[in-house]
Order: sequence, then structure tokens, then C-alpha cells
Amino acid sequence: LDPVPSDIAISRSQPPKDIEKVAAEIGVHPEELDLYGRKKAKVSLDILERLQNVQDGKYVVVAGITPTPLGEGKSTTTIGLVQALGAHLHKNVFACVRQPSQGPTFGIKGGAAGGGYSQVIPMEEFNLHLTGDIHAITAANNLLAAAIDARMFHEATQTDEALFNRLAPKNKKGTRPLTEIQLRRLDRLGFERVDDAEHLSVEQRNQFARLNIDPDTITWNRVLDTNDRFLRGIEIGLGKNEKGLTRKTQFDITVASELMAILALTTSLADMQQRIQRIVIGCDKAGKPVTADDVGVTDALTVLMRDTVRPNLMQTLEGTPVFVHAGPFANIAHGQSSILADRVALKLAGPEGFVITEAGFGADIGMEKFFNIKCRYSGLKPSAVVLVATVRALKMHGGGPSVVAGTPLKHEYLDENLPLVEGGCDSNLRKQIENANKFGIPVVLCVNKFSTDTDKELQLVIQKAKQYGAFDAVVSEHWAKGGSGAVDLATALVKATSGPAKPFKFLYDLDLSLEEKIATIAREIYGADGIELSEEAKTKLERYTQQGFGKLPICMAKTHLSLSSDPTKKGAPTGFTLPIRDVRASVGAGFIYPLVGEMTTMPGLNTRPCFYDITIDPVTEIIDGLF
Ligand code: ADP
Repeated sequence: LDPVPSDIAISRSQPPKDIEKVAAEIGVHPEELDLYGRKKAKVSLDILERLQNVQDGKYVVVAGITPTPLGEGKSTTTIGLVQALGAHLHKNVFACVRQPSQGPTFGIKGGAAGGGYSQVIPMEEFNLHLTGDIHAITAANNLLAAAIDARMFHEATQTDEALFNRLAPKNKKGTRPLTEIQLRRLDRLGFERVDDAEHLSVEQRNQFARLNIDPDTITWNRVLDTNDRFLRGIEIGLGKNEKGLTRKTQFDITVASELMAILALTTSLADMQQRIQRIVIGCDKAGKPVTADDVGVTDALTVLMRDTVRPNLMQTLEGTPVFVHAGPFANIAHGQSSILADRVALKLAGPEGFVITEAGFGADIGMEKFFNIKCRYSGLKPSAVVLVATVRALKMHGGGPSVVAGTPLKHEYLDENLPLVEGGCDSNLRKQIENANKFGIPVVLCVNKFSTDTDKELQLVIQKAKQYGAFDAVVSEHWAKGGSGAVDLATALVKATSGPAKPFKFLYDLDLSLEEKIATIAREIYGADGIELSEEAKTKLERYTQQGFGKLPICMAKTHLSLSSDPTKKGAPTGFTLPIRDVRASVGAGFIYPLVGEMTTMPGLNTRPCFYDITIDPVTEIIDGLF
């Protein structure tokens, strides 16, 4: 339709197929399907075993140029592309996308189901609770947080003997059997495993019973999936029974929890259990890391997370399958949907099929982390990158005026302006294509067409993209036309991925020092001259290396709004040094994250959040205003 109706009006106008039908069409057996109502289901990981001998499909990542407030449409392109491949070119195809956080849905961004005629449906289900994975993460995360504070309280208020007696109580036989978790603690302390803790010496008992957590080093925060700025700094323990053991701490949004990054990177429930075991929550008073396993919660957390490992099946507007699974932050974590969903999808798609997944933020962040973190942990070899650009965003990178939310767009973005488009192509587009080419696989540029783009502007982008090393470059109209508008893009992708696979390579070797790895990303991907470590960052890098975490990959927490550390610098800045303010570790998830500038892990609500627009008719239960 012209004009294109609102996202939710389009979403509602297409009744989804029963999810059992979608599952049957893609070869999921009924016993491998766990229905959550009629429009969404979890699929069993048994599929991986059943199809272990099937060759994987082609694995494609959708990334974007550096984001601007004008929007690039990576999610919309991901969905438009699978609709074209599946419903028009009749390929087996899956989209694997992130589950959105309710914070942004009710805050500033709105939903994330794609847009126009390229969407995941029903978008209400997609954007709201889905099958409860985020809620499970909230529950598990907060159990660990509660366990940490309770443990510190008990250690502070009990004698050594009382503490030991409670942690390893005597049974009727007069022995003190230990649980598997407690035996692992003995291993870490370097003591021999004993059937009966009665055999431990007094000194060993004390060491076993006291974690001696240094409260100032605790990095495990409580979480909530709401944008709640007043929880960014809180004081806990003010109740009268907590004996004055107050502590300043903060809440993060649930998707910033390390458990979300673990869900996205895990390869099985057993692997998840091991990652949870390794989570470092802070240090003891001697500076040694204290783990979730030391606190005793590994299995309890795994129990709470049990259902989350199974990917959630939904569908696009054109009835092709979508896995919606995991959605970690893209700055302090790697910002990708799950490895497990990709793996299951690659098997179900088979050798002639395609799995299209999306990397959040610009390619300098999302794509780099997709390759160097996600593909490293999964062992999966990507076949191509689809890089999304828009004429209007390129104009901003080419020197166009800044955009103020809520005000009409300036004429530069509405009228033809070839010099601005060219400026954006020669800077940001060029750098992002060159970056993608460093990984060895073909890059297909997609110009996501807006109605105000002129033919000359679109052709200029195509010509420049090819000049800068894109395998192919096409204009796509999936937002306005759905899959039929992305057939050229899909055809270009099929061509780029046919023939012998191109050798994929990582940007850096894990054996490099942490500092060298950070500097490699800064120089090669951001175009920096080098890095500058604060004293704090230097100390942390040394400490993490000593603690044995030096071989982990790097997850840069940098602004997504610029290739540099300064969000106001568009295009492709040069002549800068990247400042590393601090460094943190997500040992369970398996990466070190350097902080370039301040990163908010709890967004706030603005004066007029999206929730003002969201309505429900209590009779029909029809929801409006989600977009
Ligand atoms: P990203 O994944 O890059 O954040 P999305 O795909 O979520 O971007 O798109 C952001 C918003 O822009 C959505 O509301 C979508 O409907 C809109 N949008 C995307 N592509 C177009 C287009 N070609 N024309 C008009 N609006 C678009």
C-alpha cells in the first residue's frame, strides 16, 4: 500500500500461521516442539543430534554503517532478505534475531521486529514477554546477587565455627557430607576432596567457610528489564535486621546481565552450567577472584535458566521461520542473538539453505564482535556479510546537519544532494566495507531505500560501494514491498555465496596480549593511531592476565555513533588515539571488555517515553502504539 501503513497495522493485517505448521514446514518434529500458545514455540536442541550429519546452510551476517538517528534498518533488512529468499526464491531460510528488551520498547526506541512489510509477527508477542527467557535471566541473576549479600552478612555476623557448622552440618551419622559444589570449592582451595568435612583441619574449615568477599570489588549487580534511572545508584541493607551492613550498589537492565551474554554464547545446557560456574562476581580481600561457584549457586542458576537454551520459533509476515533468541547489550557485551539458534537453523536449512543473522550497532562493533567473539566460540564459518546503508545516513556521515528528535527533517535529507552522499561513501561506507573485507568473506552492500531517495543518489552509492571493494551492491525496497522488494538483494547474496567458500579469518590471535588485542581492533577497525590506557586500565589488564584471563577475546564497549570514541564525529575520523578508561571481565561469558568512555548499563526514561503511545482495547485486547 502507498503510503505504507504503520508497522503494527501491517503486522496485525497478516494473520500468522499456526506455529505448528511453520515447524512442520521446516522439518521440526512434533516432539521437538514446545508450544507457548499458537504463535510461538521453543524448539528442542535434540534437533542438533538428529541432524548431526546434515551439512550446514550458508551463514550470513547483516551489519550496518555507523548508526545515525536517521536509522539504517538492519532488522528490517534481515527480515526483508529472508522473505525474499524464502517466499520468492524458494530457498530454505531462517532469520535469527535478538529478543528485544522491554526497557527500550517502553522507553525511547520502540520495538525491534523490523518494519514496514518486513516484520516478525505477531509483533506484540515478539516485543513483550515472548517465552519468558528475559524473566528467567532476571530471576537467576538476582538469586546470585541475593546469595552474595546474604553470604557477606552471614560471614560478618557469625564465628568461624558457627559458619562452618552451618555450611557443612553434621548429619545423624555424625559425618559432614559435602555437595558437589562444595567439593569443587575444596579443589579450588587446593585441598584434597574429603567425603566427610569433619576431616578438614581447623584452618582448612575456616578457609572453606569464609569467602571474605571485598564488597568494594563486587561487579555483580541486580537487574530489572525496565528503564529505571533511579536504580542506577542505590543503597541496600537498610532494614533493621541487616545490622548496619549497608552497601552502595546499582541495578542494570536485564539484557546487560552476564547471564544474557552467556545465553547468547553457550553451546548447550552443560556448557551453560560451566560458564555459570566460572562467573567472577568480585574479589576476596586478598585480591583473588570469587566465582558464582564459590557462592554455591551454579546449579540453582542453571535450573532457572534451563528452558532458555531452546530457541524461540516465530515467523515473518510472509510465513518464513524466525528464531528469536537472546539479546545481550551491544557495548558491554557482544550484542548478538544466540549461537544455539544459529546452529539449529543451519542444520534445518541444510546445505542449499541460508541463515541470516544480525549484528547490532555499526559493523565496527557488531560485525567485529560477531566474527571475533561469536564465530570463535561457535566454530561456525560465515559465508558473507550484508552491509546495510541508507542514503540519508550517508548524507549525515558526509557532513549533513545533525538531527533533533521530534523536529522535521532538514531539506538536505529530503532533497537530492549528491555531494553529501559522496562524502558519506568516501568516509564511513568505505571504511566499513574495507573492515568487512579484512575477514576474508564477500560483502554485499544493501541500500535500504527510503521514499525520498533519488535514483542518482542510489546509483552513486552502488558505484562507490563496488569501487571500495563490495562484491556486489544493490538497492532494496523490502520496507515498502516486503520480500518482493528484496529479490535483487537475495539474488546478489546467492551469487556471492555460491562456488567454493572464501576462507574466513579472525582479526587477531587469542595468544596476543590483552593490550595488543585491544590495539589491533582500535587501529584496524576504528582507524585509530593507537590506544591510551588509563592507570586503572593498565592495572586491570595486568590483574586479569595474572588471574589467567589473558587469552580471552576482546569485547569493546565503545560508542556506536562514531568509528572513534567521540559520538559527534561522523564519517571516518583519523588522527586520534583511543582512550581506554577502564577494563572489566565477563569470565563466564568469556570476554574482556575495555570501556571507552562511560557506558550506561541502566537506561532511563525520557520526558515522553513510548508508553504514552501504547494502548489496549480491553474488549478486543487489540494493542496499538507498539512499533
Ligand atoms: P536497525 O535494526 O538498524 O536499528 P530497524 O530495522 O529496526 O533498524 O529500523 C528502524 C526503523 O526504521 C523502523 O521503525 C523501520 O520501520 C524504519 N525503516 C527501516 N527501513 C525503512 C525504509 N526503507 N523506509 C522507511 N522506514 C524504514
